[in-house]
Amino acid sequence: MRYISTRGSQTPLGFSDAVMTGLARDGGLLLPAEIPYVADRLPSWQSLSYTDLAFEIMRLFCDIPQDELQAIIHRSYHSFHHPDVTPVVSVNNIHILELFHGPTLAFKDVALQFLGNIFEYILDQRNRELNILAATSGDTGSAAICGVRGRDHIRIFVMHPRGRVSPTQERQMTSVLDENVFNIAVQGTFDDCQRIMKELFSDLSFKDSHFLGTVNSINWARVLAQVVYYFFAAFRVMRLTSCKRVRFAVPTGNFGDIFAGYVAQRMGLPIGQLILATNENDILTRFFNIGEYKQGSVHATISPSMDIQVASNFERYLYYRLGEDPIRLREEMAAFSTTGRLTVTPLPDGRVDDLISAGAVGTAQTLATIRTFHQQYGYLLDPHTAVGIHVAQQHLCRNEPMICLATAHPAKFSQAIENATGQDLAHHPLLDALADLPTRCAVLPATQGAIRSHIQRSLISQPE
Ligand SMILES: *Cc1c(COP(=O)(O)O)cnc(C)c1O
Repeated sequence: MRYISTRGSQTPLGFSDAVMTGLARDGGLLLPAEIPYVADRLPSWQSLSYTDLAFEIMRLFCDIPQDELQAIIHRSYHSFHHPDVTPVVSVNNIHILELFHGPTLAFKDVALQFLGNIFEYILDQRNRELNILAATSGDTGSAAICGVRGRDHIRIFVMHPRGRVSPTQERQMTSVLDENVFNIAVQGTFDDCQRIMKELFSDLSFKDSHFLGTVNSINWARVLAQVVYYFFAAFRVMRLTSCKRVRFAVPTGNFGDIFAGYVAQRMGLPIGQLILATNENDILTRFFNIGEYKQGSVHATISPSMDIQVASNFERYLYYRLGEDPIRLREEMAAFSTTGRLTVTPLPDGRVDDLISAGAVGTAQTLATIRTFHQQYGYLLDPHTAVGIHVAQQHLCRNEPMICLATAHPAKFSQAIENATGQDLAHHPLLDALADLPTRCAVLPATQGAIRSHIQRSLISQPE
């Protein structure tokens, strides 16, 4: 499989190069040159275990030898605390796809455990090193750290704004003591952390001489890992309900998770509707309702991992929506970067997309959804999942069962659960145990100079 850029000016790349490159050289995002259509294979895939299914799907997109790929998949999902990896739990008329059984209890583990293993494999093949630099407002950092801790050829430097992430989030990161993990508490805001990232990456000689890279959500390997659970859940729910089609509701920030569902549908998985759910940061909801993609300002909510205004994976969707025409896509993206706005012409039926429906949910509704779901069914939703469930409830359909993606364990957001239910209900032994663990973290000023010399010093004191 070759990978092309949405903007059309990148020589096609193989899988390994696509994974190592991240962003294409022309500024676009990488996509497989064609999406394999697998409808005729679905019957034979229906009863496969998660890892066997992952192998069947991923091998279509990878140039990694089959036994190596199989070993990578097993290593990646061995760390999950459930035999089904991503189990489906039926609650009343909704099927909840629990994506939070990974080591950090967040859905990002599904992709980042795989990405860590893929990186290690490719770097080993090429006899190269990688120093990952990341900035986190809380949640992504621990999943990224957990994906690469203890791996050969890789070090990771994660900046978080000091005192501005929750105590649990901070401990999830700083209690990882592997020698290749460097936590940095920046004396500033998340914006400072992102600015420092940009400054260090734009210094190309520093970037190249220090083998700097990222793990951000535009990496194709992350999308690929997420495609698998759409198949897995659809098979389980179709068997359970004897229905021939399903719907998925997906709480979204960067359009990464839902884009994986879009790919699954294009591969031939019978998905009738994808329901996109956002919090008050509703740029994507507005797009799918009125066809206008217009940047607003970011609001802090109780579902912070979706507090995003420019969705980094949206360009991949837009590429298909504009008829796989890189020239048009380039024009639209250029217009967006100068005016902060782009529009598409509606389809003949007036909709923006006949597969994707969307809704936005405010804080009060999110808390109410958590409360009612707990009262009625005894099931605790984390605030991100609750956003998805709320919108899903407005799109129920008798012949197409609804599968809602549960993206975090409720214990990660225990304060919101307490606000919603009035009780301190959300716990997980892994998180409770964090309080007693030793931690390691450097505290540094919010300047790129301070971070740069910290990285240099750390690499010298750790030659291999
Ligand atoms: C990252 C994240 C999301 C959003 O995922 P995208 O791929 O950015 O759409 C939703 N919920 C949780 C808990 C997350 O960590």
